[in-house]
This record gives sequence, C-alpha cells and structure tokens, in this order.
Amino acid sequence: MRLKFIIPAVIGLVVACHASASAQPAAPVRYDIRYAAAGDTTVTVTMAWTPPLSAPGALVMPRAIPMGYGEQRYDAFLRDVQAVSGEARRPAVREEGPRWRLDAGTTGVSYRVDLAALERTVKAASDQSRVRDGYLGALGYSLFAFVDGFESRPARLHIGGPASWPVFSTLAPQAPPAVGAVDVEAPDYYALADSQLVMGPKAEVRRLAAAPIPVYLASYAEGPVDLDRVGRLALTAFQRVADYFGTVPFAHYTLHQELLTPLTPEHEYGMSMEHLGSSTYYLAASAGLTAASGADDDARVLYNFAHHIAHAWVPKRAYGQGYFPFQWELAPVLDSIWFAEGFGQYAAIVAVAAGTPDPAAFREGMLQRRFRANVATAPPFLKRLPLVELSRVASTRYAEDFRTGRLVFSRGGLMAAAIDDRIRRETGGAKSLRDALRFLVDWTGRERRAFTLDELPALVRDATGVDTSAVMDEWLRPLP
Ligand SMILES: [Zn+2]
Repeated sequence: MRLKFIIPAVIGLVVACHASASAQPAAPVRYDIRYAAAGDTTVTVTMAWTPPLSAPGALVMPRAIPMGYGEQRYDAFLRDVQAVSGEARRPAVREEGPRWRLDAGTTGVSYRVDLAALERTVKAASDQSRVRDGYLGALGYSLFAFVDGFESRPARLHIGGPASWPVFSTLAPQAPPAVGAVDVEAPDYYALADSQLVMGPKAEVRRLAAAPIPVYLASYAEGPVDLDRVGRLALTAFQRVADYFGTVPFAHYTLHQELLTPLTPEHEYGMSMEHLGSSTYYLAASAGLTAASGADDDARVLYNFAHHIAHAWVPKRAYGQGYFPFQWELAPVLDSIWFAEGFGQYAAIVAVAAGTPDPAAFREGMLQRRFRANVATAPPFLKRLPLVELSRVASTRYAEDFRTGRLVFSRGGLMAAAIDDRIRRETGGAKSLRDALRFLVDWTGRERRAFTLDELPALVRDATGVDTSAVMDEWLRPLP
C-alpha cells in the first residue's frame, strides 16, 4: 500500500520537471472590470493578452456553470462586444452559440454586461448578478468571457468601482475591503469564473475569528439580519467541515450572503451555491436570522452552510469526470452527480453531527429527512433508472426538474452512508468513509484529474483496506 503512495509521487515529479523544462508558462490574460458610477446598471469588461492571436479565434461566454447542472445563457447580456488589435477596434462578429469571432492579430476585447437585464431575465437568485442602490454583487461567470484555448492561462484582474466604494473579491478577500479598486489574480479561468465580487457602501465584510484559514463573511441585506449570529454559525460550520476533511487545501474562504427584496413573484430566492473558495447564499429579504429566530433556524442555517462549504472539498477538489476541466458552453453530461452531491452532503452531515450531543442520532435523523424520505416519494420511472443514467438525466435539469436532482443526491447520500457503515464495521471503527474522502482529496491534488467510476472502489480500498465495490454496485443499480 505504501508503494502505491510512492510511485505516483515519483511519476508526478518527473512530469513536473519535464513540463517546466519544455513548456513556457502561459502569459496571463488581463481583465479590467469597471463599474463607473453609483446607479449605473452595466459594468464594462476589458480583456487584453499577448502575443496577438496568430490565427482566428473565438470569445466565449459561459452558458453552463460548475455544478449548475443546467443552462445559464450569460451571453444574452453582453453589449457592444468590440475586438481590439493594437490601436484599432471594431465590433466582434457574433457566431453561433455563445461566441464572437476574433480575427488573427486580435490583442483584446471589450464589452459591457447589462446586470439589470440579467437580474430581470434569470429567475434563480443563485445564478444572478445584481446592482442595487449602493451595492453591486456579481458572479464571475456572469462577467468574464474567455478566449477559446486560453482556459488554463492565469488571469490578472483589476476591479474598479466608484471612488469611495469598498471593493471586495473572493480571490483575495480583505476586511475591511480596499476602497475604489483592487487588483487580484487567479491561477486559471475556472478560478476566475468561480469567484465573486462585491462592492458598495451597503456591503458589509467581516473576517471571522479562529479558523484554520481566514474565513470571511460578505453580506448585503435588504431586511433584518443578526450578522453576529450568522458569523458564529458560518465559523462553526467551516470549523466542523475542516475538522472532517483534516486539511484545508485552499488559503482563504468567503461566505457571501444577500437578503433581497424579490424582483417579481416569478423570481426564486432561498438558493445557495458552492464555489472553489467561497459559497453564495441568496435569500428573500425576510429570511435573515434575527434575535427572533429559534434553535431550529440555527440548525437549518448551520447545516446549509456546512453542506455548501463541504463542496469545496467534494467535488471541487475530488471529482468524477466532467467536473474539471469544465465545459462552459454547454452543460456537460455527468456520470457522478450522486458522488458530488450525495457524498458531499453526507460529509457535511457527519461533520455537523460531530458537534452534537448524540452524533449517531443526528446522522440517523438527517439520513431520514434528507435522503430516505426523497427516495420513498420519488416517481417510480426515475427510481428504475440505474444511478449513472439518472445522473446523466439530472446533468442538464437538476434544479429545473428537481425530482431528478433530489433523487440523484439522495441515492448518492445513502450510498455514502452504506459505504461508511461497511468500512466502520470491517475495521472495528478504526476507519471510515472520512479516511477515503481525505485520501481522494490528496490523490486528486497529486493526480490533477478526475477519478473514473472504475477506479473509485480501488481508491476507497487503498485508503481504508476495505473492499466496498459490492455496496457501490448495489446502490448504482435501479431501485426496486
Ligand atoms: Zn450540494
């Protein structure tokens, strides 16, 4: 078993040396975001790169977002897309899909993003960026396009707001935030697109004390909220999830929460989303935690935070095929949503349980409420699908037809619980699924690739010494 640790490490070293000897590091792509004045409803984005394109290329805007499991047409909100070559600039020609043609010689682009149109048109709060009085909150993937083929290049980002406005980026969080402008970097397009920016006098940013890494709370509220209480729960959730995974493979973390007056009755709030180094929570204005909230509210918020924080490990840093590299133009068809969502949530349940008086009872209650109840009420035609098939179906309609999303994460969560039980039983409690997930996060960090479904049982066995392939097979089969 120890040999298996050593061999990949040696191969990794050889590959890394080879790469550094033969490949030039790609030049960064510069992004400049400008929100000129309070009250504006658009932001201007400028991109620049060197050397000039040597052949015709394409500017691409995301239509799919990591773990969005659906389509978000952010290209619909770009205005005045211009291609720049040297001193010359001219309108970029729109092509099919979320693309604009870039001629050979192009050195940059500029465009505006209409955030007011975006917030009106996109009905799910967790997929929106927005401008409100004294506030701008934006998701990276709704702002940043990329040049096809540049996805692995690092990005340098300058964010400029109105002169007196605090400006905050989840790529390099600061409390209090910088005023007027901030410069940050991202190692690749994924990290840039999966970041958020927040600015304005009505944003409040806090650094929460005493976690293994700096944890920040960025808040914008149009309703009452007790931020001390939210901050305490955020920190507790982060601490418990970090304890579960044992190591924190990122430098900082931000929870971004907005309490919003609904734009129309058709707009949906109460949604959360996970990102590489942050999580976002978009609630109705009246849904904030206050002094009047009860213990049940605290428990619900604590688990919701833990669930989305846990995704920074699973699947953001341990994932099946299709999660990374990510296909931005069209939602990828994924075989392993049950792992990403089910195992991620199960990890959060066990992490939170560890801080309760009776962890086994807490776990049992959550398995019943979060997973078994959903399986019991799922439509038979979906239960009859093999789990991989259900995952593929949910890949493009997880939330839109939540019967698919709910069942795929519930079956995955119950698989995780069954594997955990098997490992604990066979090792007399010495090992658990936690060891397998920690091993997978390390393995993914070394290998820098997705695991295949065929590899998963062997990886779990390497981590725990227990063969769980029969349990996995049982849960991958159609349900009775
Ligand atoms: Zn989730």
